[in-house]
Amino acid sequence: MPVAEGGCLCGLVRYAVQDNPVRVTACHCRFCQRATGSAYHVAPVFTEENFSVTQGEPKIYTHISDGSGKALYIRFCPECGTKLYLSLERFPGTVGVYGGTFDEPNFFASRYPISKQIFLASGRHGTIVPEGVESFWGHAIDADDRLIESICFSQPTTLVTDSDGRATARSNPRNAGTRGTSSG
Ligand SMILES: [Zn+2]
Ligand SMILES: [Zn+2]
Repeated sequence: MPVAEGGCLCGLVRYAVQDNPVRVTACHCRFCQRATGSAYHVAPVFTEENFSVTQGEPKIYTHISDGSGKALYIRFCPECGTKLYLSLERFPGTVGVYGGTFDEPNFFASRYPISKQIFLASGRHGTIVPEGVESFWGHAIDADDRLIESICFSQPTTLVTDSDGRATARSNPRNAGTRGTSSG
């Protein structure tokens, strides 16, 4: 029995997951903003073995990352264009689902809340970042796969963009304590 199922707007492509997500990341990078057409991508990540397409055949768009130079493979419905999931050359063996495509998009929200906020520096003006979540202005790991130190807001914090379009925290810097390094 699948843990949860999802699909595109028109119903042609359907998928199922056989286990809960290994983590849920919110990504505020420009790629994810453009890909979702929204402020950020809520990305529950599953192992490849626990994810399967159960109906239809998604098309693949291959995008080369500006940052890493590696490929991202985005799967979308050939009929209605809904993006369903993506895999990354840089992180093989896992699949990041476009979280809003689940039939019950909150099935993982209570037990598996968003555990990591990344690329806040390109966050949309006015986005509120929750307190107590491991957060990063950019990626959580650098190009050599080293962990980058995270920040952790002690209260909900609004992002504001400066004249260069770079987002910073509106609240007092005192609220942004460091919390050691990322666990990956
Ligand atoms: Zn469709
Ligand atoms: Zn992103």
